[in-house]
Amino acid sequence: MIDIEELSCDLLIIGGGAAGCVAAVEAREKAPDLDVLLVEKAHIYRSGCLAAGISALNAYLTPGETAESFLRYTIRDTHGIVRDDLVLTMARELNEQAHRVERWGLPIPRDENGQPLKRGRASIKILGERIKPIIGKATEASGARILNRVNVTSLATHRGRVIGAFGFHVRTGKFYAIRAKATLLCTGGTAGLYRPNNPGMASHRMWYSPFNTGAGLAMGIRAGAEMTSFEFRFIPLRIKDAIAPTGEIAQWLGAKQINARGEPYLEKYYQHLGGQRMTTQDRLYATLQEKLAGRGPCYLDLSNVDPRKLEGTTRAYLSMAPPAAMLLQDEMYYGRAGGTMAPVEIAGSEPHVVGGHGLSGFWIDAKRRTTLPGLWAAGDIAGGSPKKYAPGAWAEGVIAIRDMIEDIRPRKLNELDEEQVLKERDRVFSPFEEKQGTPPPELEERLQKVMDEYAGGISQNYGYSEGELKIAAIHLNRLQQEFEAITATSMHDLLLAHDVMDRVTVSQTLVAHMLHRQETRWHCYQERLDYPERNDARWGSVFVNSVRRGDTIEMVERAVERANIEVVLPSLSDGAIIRHGD
Ligand SMILES: Cc1cc2nc3c(=O)[nH]c(=O)nc-3n(C[C@H](O)[C@H](O)[C@H](O)COP(=O)(O)OP(=O)(O)OC[C@H]3O[C@@H](n4cnc5c(N)ncnc54)[C@H](O)[C@@H]3O)c2cc1C
Repeated sequence: MIDIEELSCDLLIIGGGAAGCVAAVEAREKAPDLDVLLVEKAHIYRSGCLAAGISALNAYLTPGETAESFLRYTIRDTHGIVRDDLVLTMARELNEQAHRVERWGLPIPRDENGQPLKRGRASIKILGERIKPIIGKATEASGARILNRVNVTSLATHRGRVIGAFGFHVRTGKFYAIRAKATLLCTGGTAGLYRPNNPGMASHRMWYSPFNTGAGLAMGIRAGAEMTSFEFRFIPLRIKDAIAPTGEIAQWLGAKQINARGEPYLEKYYQHLGGQRMTTQDRLYATLQEKLAGRGPCYLDLSNVDPRKLEGTTRAYLSMAPPAAMLLQDEMYYGRAGGTMAPVEIAGSEPHVVGGHGLSGFWIDAKRRTTLPGLWAAGDIAGGSPKKYAPGAWAEGVIAIRDMIEDIRPRKLNELDEEQVLKERDRVFSPFEEKQGTPPPELEERLQKVMDEYAGGISQNYGYSEGELKIAAIHLNRLQQEFEAITATSMHDLLLAHDVMDRVTVSQTLVAHMLHRQETRWHCYQERLDYPERNDARWGSVFVNSVRRGDTIEMVERAVERANIEVVLPSLSDGAIIRHGD
């Protein structure tokens, strides 16, 4: 018989990454009388996207920038589909939260005027290898109760309100039933939906944290929460094989993107931008076009880079993506021997559902309330507001928890429904039943093959059409039917089983969104080969949202509401773009 441990708290935070930890501290500082419980699947010292460390804070208002200029930048980057209220409220919190984490011990280098060292318009340098233990220790010191190594699987509800959650300890197998007056979900975005760049044992050498498997999104989808913009998939352009960020080399060292002939190529695709900043997807799209035109692979050119600065960059990679440091070190060694510094090859990764870089996630209001009463969402799991990165996740966590504190003052704890508790316990441990079934890695491979081939993965140069998406939807439904057959023989398998089931659920919603938006608004990210043009008249001010009821995914459209702000969007249909295969 599986043990059930019942816990209760005032504020429940699910996911102890960037957003969750800072939210817990804020709660304890603002309302020390409240009992805060943070539940994390790994260990808050090294979990989520920040686990390996980072080298910059990519959302920060540098001198001269304002919340409004930050909003303009996001509107341009997403071709108009942005929740202005979310971006503005987040941007106003960015610097305060950055300096809060600095006070906890995060080193932020300064320039000769005492200002944080600028890396880009909205980005500052940090020495961030230990960012997660620093945040973790501050969270522990806050007095929040922390439950490490508990994987949350589902939300507990009572008459439509979220009243807690269920989960299991990934080592002991203890089952937890948790009651809360308010619940904040911050389990991050989703990796592992698509076949990744690297095969076999190296498949987890991917960009996004491979342990963020879309659990929180899947929980919300199953509970009927409204989701937004899944079709805006985020696909980073990365150092090939190491799958490490290129910003450090492109932004900090000013290295140009060149093709195999040594020609810089970005400008020729985007001359029509009139010198305006390129969007993130522009760089990826142009790189792909060069390859399709027979001028690949593409590189970052290091030949004109100051060697001392390059050594600094190599050290920065040690703080977040050590394989890239090793790769650069190799190139420096061989480069010195041959007299030239070899360029660094770049490639796109597999697509991700992630609201911190992109737009996809829970549909929330300005206080970060989801459409399910009692449930808030913050960070990479929340949609509508891109380019949040680490500081934006902190900001959203803080905004959400402040509202939760207000919300629960008059509330009492609800009793959990016993039938719900037992049903979830049985579902969670059903892979342990004796059966001849499917081991989780097999289901994962099949999922990634379907998504790669029929839903615009790397092998398809990110493009897809209705016919393929419909096949993907059929295969995903078949994979869902196999949930009952999934098997586990160890606690590790059990975790993998839930990870892959959640990924299938997220993929089903993703494909439904991709089918719905019949235009191409964000090259590569959302590349409808059967609707290759951007269609502003039909889709230019529409969020594509969805609500799942049982096995039916209902699509909903919501209007973009623009704050009083003027932005000139980059044109995509003026003939300056070279299409696939040109
Ligand atoms: C490789 C990489 C490099 C980055 N570099 C930078 C950078 O240089 N600068 C910058 O500003 N931003 C950077 N970012 C972005 C930034 O790290 C994220 O936007 C931010 O961490 C998101 O915060 P979050 O709390 O939403 O998610 P995370 O910080 O990922 O936290 C999610 C947490 O939820 C936990 N969790 C997941 N599922 C469950 C479950 N079922 N039950 C319990 N817990 C669960 C995870 O273990 C994790 O601890 C980078 C991201 C990546 C992936």
